[in-house]
Amino acid sequence: MACIGHSRSTGWTGQTPVRGVATATSLAFSGGLVTNQFLRRTAVLAVATVAVGVAVAAPATAAPGHNAAPATTTVRLIGLNDFHGNLEPPAGSSGRVVQSDGTTVDAGGAAFLATHVRQLRAEQRNSLVLTGGDNIGASPLASALFHDEPTIEFLNSIGTTASAVGNHELDEGYKELLRIQFGGCHPVDGCQFHNPYPGAKFPYLASNITFTKTGLPATLPFTVKIVNGAKIGIIGATLKDLPTIVSPDGIQGLSFGDEAAAINRSSALLQRLGVKTQVVVIHQGDSTVGGGPNDCNLAASGPLSAINAAVSTNVDVIISGHTHTQYNCKLPDPAGKLRTVIQSLSFGRLLSVVDLKIDRKTGDVIRDASTARNEIVTRTVTPDPAVQAIVDEAVTKAAPIANQQVGKITADIVKAPVASGESPLGNLIADSQLAATEQSAGAQIALMNPGGVRADLVFAPDGVVTYQDAFTVQPFSNILQTLTYTGAQIDQVLEQQWLPGLTRILQPSSTLHYTQTLANPIGDRVSNITINGVPVDPAATYRVTVNNFLAAGGDSFTALTQGTDVTGGPIDLDAFTAYLTANSPVSPPATDRITVA
Ligand SMILES: [Zn+2]
Repeated sequence: MACIGHSRSTGWTGQTPVRGVATATSLAFSGGLVTNQFLRRTAVLAVATVAVGVAVAAPATAAPGHNAAPATTTVRLIGLNDFHGNLEPPAGSSGRVVQSDGTTVDAGGAAFLATHVRQLRAEQRNSLVLTGGDNIGASPLASALFHDEPTIEFLNSIGTTASAVGNHELDEGYKELLRIQFGGCHPVDGCQFHNPYPGAKFPYLASNITFTKTGLPATLPFTVKIVNGAKIGIIGATLKDLPTIVSPDGIQGLSFGDEAAAINRSSALLQRLGVKTQVVVIHQGDSTVGGGPNDCNLAASGPLSAINAAVSTNVDVIISGHTHTQYNCKLPDPAGKLRTVIQSLSFGRLLSVVDLKIDRKTGDVIRDASTARNEIVTRTVTPDPAVQAIVDEAVTKAAPIANQQVGKITADIVKAPVASGESPLGNLIADSQLAATEQSAGAQIALMNPGGVRADLVFAPDGVVTYQDAFTVQPFSNILQTLTYTGAQIDQVLEQQWLPGLTRILQPSSTLHYTQTLANPIGDRVSNITINGVPVDPAATYRVTVNNFLAAGGDSFTALTQGTDVTGGPIDLDAFTAYLTANSPVSPPATDRITVA
C-alpha cells in the first residue's frame, strides 16, 4: 500500500474554492504514519477548525447598532450518487426518469447536470455538493478508458465537496483509489487524458474502512465545512458487505465495519467538538416498489432503513446510493424524530436538493423548517460549456484507445447457440470468468447467463479484437462473484434452465459437463454432472463463479441465491479482455460441454 504522509494532507482538502464556503479540516492517514493517537490528533485538528469557524463568524456579531444577524442560516446540500462515468447523456431507460404518474422524462448528461448545479447555487450561494459514491467504475468507454479521470475532472468542475467511497471506487483496488484521490499517472496506462492527472479536489470519506492489522482508518472518516458561519460535519460510510462485490486482491488488509457503529463514532466526536449540523453520505440504499423521484416507496426491511434506525439522532440528513433508486423519505431516527433519507437514482439523472435551516445559536438543524426534494436533470437547459469541453475531449481521445488490440481470434466466435443451448462465445466468456477467479476465489466452474452475451466476435478482416469489440460483447459491467454450492444445489440450478414457457441455458466453463434429456419432465432433465471429469457428489461442496445478476437470482435462477461464502471478483469485461490477451490467438471453444440425450 502506498503511504500517505502528513505532507500530502492538503490533498484531502484542496477544494475548488466556492464562495461562502470555507474549507475547515485537514486530516491524513497512512498505514505507516497513523498512530494510536489518531483520535486525539483528529480532535486537535477539529478544535482548530472550530476556532477558525468562530473567527470567520466574528464580524457578523461585532457591529453593535447594526441589525442583529438573522437567527437562522440556510445551507443547501446538492446530492448525487452512482454517476458511473456517464459523461454523455445515457441512452435508453438509463437516460429516463419515471415519475409518480408513470410518465418519463429524458434526463442526465454531465454538461446538463453542471448547469442544474450552477442554477441551484445561484438560488442559494451557501451550497455543498455531496455524493453517495460509485461515481467512477462500471463506466462507459469515454470515462472507463481513462480510469475515470475525466469523471473526476467533471466532479471537480462542479465543486464537489465530498464523496462517500462506493464499491466501484475500489474496483481497481485501494492503491488506485489513492491515485484517484491524490493524482498522478496510472502505473500501467500512464496519463492518457491529462498529464498530469490532478486528482480529486474533494475527499473520499468512509468511517468504516480500517486497516485490519491496526484498526486505524484507511480512509478519511469525515470532514467539516464552515458555510456562512455554520459548521457542517460530513460523515462518510460504505456498505459493510463491500468485500462480496469487489476483487479481493485490491482490498487486502482492509476491514469493512458496521456502518451505523462507525458513523456514530464520528458523530459523537463531532458533537463533542460542537459540530451540531451533521450529514451522512453513505454508499448503501434501499430498493423501492415503484414511485417517482419524490415518493418514498421503500421495499420492506432494506439495509439503509436498518442503518437509519441505528444512526445517532445527531445526524440530520442521510444522502445514500448503491441501489440506483429514487426516494425522498422522512424516516424516524432512534428518538422517533423524522429525518431526511434521500437517493437520486443513478447516472446523473437526478439531483437531491436539501435546504437545511440552521439555528445560528445552537448550530443545529431545525428539521421542521428544512426541505428536501429530488430535481430531474432535464436536458432542456443549456449545457455547461466547461463541462461539455471535458466530455468532448474524453469522447475524442477515447476513440483511438477503443480501437487498440486486446487480443486476436482465429475465426468468428458467435453467440448463436447450438442444439444443447451452449454457444462458442458463451463458453469462451464462462472460461474467462473461471480463469479470473480460479486463483483468487478457488472457483471450479463458471456459469454465464446467455442474455448477457450481446454481440459476436467477428474475425474479419484480420482477427484483431479491440477493446471496443470486447466492450460490445460485455457492456454491462457486471461484477463476478464466487460462491459455494452443494452438488445437489448445482443440479437444482441446472434443472431451473427449463421453466414452463422459458428456457435459458447457462453457458458452462470447460470444467463442467452434463447430459440434458428434453424428453424428461421439467425438474428432471439433467444427469451425469461432472466437474473436471469427476462425477458431482450431491453432498459435497463446490466453488462456482457467476455474475452478480445471476447470484441474486436473475433470470429466475432462484437456486443460485442459496450460495454461501461469497467472494467478490473483477468486472466481467476485465476478466474477458484479460483472457483474450493471455490466450491469443483464441479459437472458438468446442460446444461439447452439454450432451443432448
Ligand atoms: Zn454500488
